[in-house]
Amino acid sequence: MSKVIIIGGGIIGLSSAYYLHKAGHQVTILDKGKLNENCSLGNAGMIVPSHFVPLAAPGMIKQGIRWMFDSKSPFYVRPSLSPELFSWGIKFIKKANARHVNEAAVPLRDISLLSKKLYSEIADETGINFGLTGNGILAFYKTEQAAEEEAHLAEKGRELGLDMAVLNADECKALQPHLNLDVLGAVHYRCDSHIFPDALISGLNKYLKANGVEIFQDHEVTRIDRSGHKVVKVFTGKQEWTADQFVIAGGSWSPAVAKMTGINISLIPGKGYSFMVSEPENRMTIPALLTEARVAITPMNGQIRYGGTMEIGKTNNKINMNRVKGIVESVPKYFPDLHPSVPVEKDIWFGFRPASPDGLPYIGRTGKYDNLIIATGHGMMGLSLGPATGRLVSEIVSEKSTAISTSAFSPDRF
Ligand SMILES: Cc1cc2nc3c(=O)[nH]c(=O)nc-3n(C[C@H](O)[C@H](O)[C@H](O)COP(=O)(O)OP(=O)(O)OC[C@H]3O[C@@H](n4cnc5c(N)ncnc54)[C@H](O)[C@@H]3O)c2cc1C
Repeated sequence: MSKVIIIGGGIIGLSSAYYLHKAGHQVTILDKGKLNENCSLGNAGMIVPSHFVPLAAPGMIKQGIRWMFDSKSPFYVRPSLSPELFSWGIKFIKKANARHVNEAAVPLRDISLLSKKLYSEIADETGINFGLTGNGILAFYKTEQAAEEEAHLAEKGRELGLDMAVLNADECKALQPHLNLDVLGAVHYRCDSHIFPDALISGLNKYLKANGVEIFQDHEVTRIDRSGHKVVKVFTGKQEWTADQFVIAGGSWSPAVAKMTGINISLIPGKGYSFMVSEPENRMTIPALLTEARVAITPMNGQIRYGGTMEIGKTNNKINMNRVKGIVESVPKYFPDLHPSVPVEKDIWFGFRPASPDGLPYIGRTGKYDNLIIATGHGMMGLSLGPATGRLVSEIVSEKSTAISTSAFSPDRF
């Protein structure tokens, strides 16, 4: 049994704690915040084996440049002289090609399917009701171009063994009879699920504490001491903490934490927004992706959560209302009867996706230390991949063979 300190209590830190504790380790989580303000709460709640294509894909650069000139667009890179952003951008450009998409597909599929299976197990084992629903996701489109791209994706998905079906407008209507639809069709990602992330995160926090995991909020790690190939101590202000093994699961702040050990992680925050609207009629039963608008809509807890945008830049607390309006205005174009109002600032949630340049997470040890594990960089898929990452972290700490290969996720790959 090892004593393990996890830095960061988002879905990745909590999932790691869950599996480490289950494997018999003594676990402490240190988090700089209140554990209710990280990226793992207000996200769209989608569990997405369908997302086997990373953000770094062909066409993304051309599309990204077009979007840069539209203040309501779903994607934006905040121009900056930051060397980190520059270096991330170069890596992203190098990976935005068909070869990378092909190489990433199997590792992404495998970790996603493992995670989906583990979500069911966690629901059974813990009794936490986090609204796990397995009726898929409908990726709606309005244009022939998107129809063609989605059909191609569905074909690739089926080759990978994923259940995905191309539907025409009538077939979409049959699946969502209470919604007025103005779409050409959709791909039904039947392999996907959705959950209510807020219930998962609060439930996991309670479950872990009740089962002996120590969780400390308002404990920002500000210094890490090491000796040779080992991390020895971490400091939260004046308090020092020792352990046998350490896990960095700091989301978008992981590069700053890793830097305290002399390790560079290429990762940039991708800011996104969401807001909730009451939906007592329950007209939407299957979550929706608006393909051209890049908006995610998820029914959860008697409400609908609307989410989207990816602003690549630094972490900051400013809300860009134009981008929120972009989300709001896209909805009636697909669902003429859904007219969410522009929310007031206090009702808008934002979070920072920890985005790696190649769209794959970092999971594993680095060559530099024998007792440090990196678990971050999950970008748009951190909620989906949480349980699988947690299990892999636990297997690495326990020096067991891992459930799936982790070589594509090596933190040393750049
Ligand atoms: C709008 C939006 C929609 C999304 N929808 C989905 C979706 O449908 N499906 C999906 O799979 N993913 C989705 N995501 C992505 C997902 O939310 C993230 O990938 C995931 O939450 C990242 O989890 P994490 O644990 O790595 O980071 P976080 O949840 O951000 O947690 C990191 C934690 O580390 C702590 N920390 C940082 N530095 C320190 C330090 N020095 N000391 C101590 N603690 C520290 C922070 O306080 C924080 O609590 C979405 C994201 C956004 C923004």
